[in-house]
Amino acid sequence: MTEADYRTVGFKSGLEIHQQLFTDKKLFCRCPAGRYSEEYDAEILRHMRPTLSELGVYDGTALMEFKTKKEIIYRINRNTVCTYEMDDTPPFLINEDALDIALGIGMLYNCKLVDELHIARKQYLDGSIPTGFQRTAIYAVDGWIPYKDRTVKIIQMSIEEDSCREVSDFSHNRIYLTDRLGMPLIETVTGPDMRTPQEAAEVGWICAKLVRSTHKVRRGIGAARQDVNVSVEGGTRVEIKGVPKITMIPLLTHNEAMRQWNLLRLREELKKRGLTPETFQAEDYDITSVIKKPYYIPLKNAVESKLKISCIVLKGFKDLLRWETQPDTYFSKEISDRVRVIACLTTIPNLIHSDSRTDTLTSSDWQKVKKQTEATDNDTLIIVWASDEDIQTAVNEIIIRAKEATMGIPSETRQALSDGTNGFERILPGADRMYPDTDLPPKRIEEDRRNKIKSWLPEQFWKRQTWYKELNIPPDTIDELSISKYAELFKKVVNEWKINPTTAAVVLIQYPKRLKKSYLNTDSIDEEMMSSILKAYADGKLTSDFILNALKMSAELGMFVEEIIPQQINDADLEKEILLAEQQMQKMKFVKKESADNIMMGILMKKLRGRISARKVSQKISRLQKDLKNVK
Ligand SMILES: [Zn+2]
Repeated sequence: MTEADYRTVGFKSGLEIHQQLFTDKKLFCRCPAGRYSEEYDAEILRHMRPTLSELGVYDGTALMEFKTKKEIIYRINRNTVCTYEMDDTPPFLINEDALDIALGIGMLYNCKLVDELHIARKQYLDGSIPTGFQRTAIYAVDGWIPYKDRTVKIIQMSIEEDSCREVSDFSHNRIYLTDRLGMPLIETVTGPDMRTPQEAAEVGWICAKLVRSTHKVRRGIGAARQDVNVSVEGGTRVEIKGVPKITMIPLLTHNEAMRQWNLLRLREELKKRGLTPETFQAEDYDITSVIKKPYYIPLKNAVESKLKISCIVLKGFKDLLRWETQPDTYFSKEISDRVRVIACLTTIPNLIHSDSRTDTLTSSDWQKVKKQTEATDNDTLIIVWASDEDIQTAVNEIIIRAKEATMGIPSETRQALSDGTNGFERILPGADRMYPDTDLPPKRIEEDRRNKIKSWLPEQFWKRQTWYKELNIPPDTIDELSISKYAELFKKVVNEWKINPTTAAVVLIQYPKRLKKSYLNTDSIDEEMMSSILKAYADGKLTSDFILNALKMSAELGMFVEEIIPQQINDADLEKEILLAEQQMQKMKFVKKESADNIMMGILMKKLRGRISARKVSQKISRLQKDLKNVK
């Protein structure tokens, strides 16, 4: 699809980026952060129950989670969790280091910082936070980043606690590890300003570079997770949760836009058939006694396990369960997903239907079911099997989801699948999930604190890039240098020490990589080492062709010492070396004078590298040759 195609469907996307901050400790307790382990000392079992909000209503997600009747098990490791995370002790005061980093990143995003931080509780009822809520605080609003020839809006930024890591989710049991719980995280919400899937990814990269340029955020798998919002004209805002890699964003958002487009077309088709929310009709029947000896294995197992079997007749839906929603994905999956997540029928297939082209029931069995349910040829029949406890939930969800097709696109959060399609995760939570946290007092953000943060805050990387382009440094160093820990050093060596910008960029960015490629341990290379080497070069103590060698020796040694610099050769010794080289060359024959000169330089530089620059050697040779001519 082209940009114009996306404009036609009215593609819109925004990002919510979650980024872990690099701190020693968690946000509201003093447990260590970033210490992950699969080991645990104890398990705690909890059930989630919805309670009425202050306005007297239940939250949609809360109700959905309650319907799932999950048993939630938390695995506790005594080294990484205390009683705070389990809601048995009140929170400690906020981690000041985390708040500083968060505020700094807010400034980089051109946001307005709040004068006073108010900690709130955000309802979380999927079990990923044992208390049922997350402590969170909005600390910055109304920012922007430059993108193409426009800006992308940053709506707000929050500092909050990370949730548990899910271990497994099968049937009515979900298991979590708690080591990640409570680690400091920031959430950055962009405007819905991206018009193509590619743009959504590109803005994702800008945000990733911006936070990395501080060198105060966590890296690696799970340290940054994006929620991607997508909608099309006439569609609904759908959230794809927890996208682990920015490279997945284009395909995921494209497929979600297509899904919404296809669901809108499905609604049109239903309308043509006279099916609207008002005229929608569905009936369910217990057919446990009708199907006695099915040969289709999942059903056969169901009969053997004495499960209940139900048939739902969707009036006028014929063939629509095969309506394509995403590549190789059909409307039937929207229904099956709901049954899987909400009725916890996690073994797939969890239903069959009469639109299917694969053999499930024999035609005589289908006839029996049709007769029992009085279905016509215009209807679609769905058969589902489950225990006594789960069958009604499954039936209800099938009817709910089918009816939603007559309305359009349900508000959902969806999970990213590895093939680039997405699946139902949960109902989109209502807007009233936040309420004040009375455990912690408001906190003023003083001017003094902002100034202190500014002292360590890097320059915005896009400003650095503009300058690099003016300096004409190699294009393949620009991106990396602009977020590198050496960016400030680069500025100094170019502006103050007057080192050639290209040399500086290559030394700082390419040299460590080159050494790494030759399997050298480059861990000890740091700003101090780089700075000493470049200073020696600026002072004329080190020749440019010896910098790589100096870096290599320093990396091996763990530090830079001037002793590694070879002694500079004096004029008399250089003449002697040239004479020796000439003698060596008398035994060779040359057609061209240039190749003779090149070989001579080769012989000399092999011997003298680091003791004198190639330029000086070549100058000396031509001077000697001129003198020789004059003598002749
Ligand atoms: Zn703790």
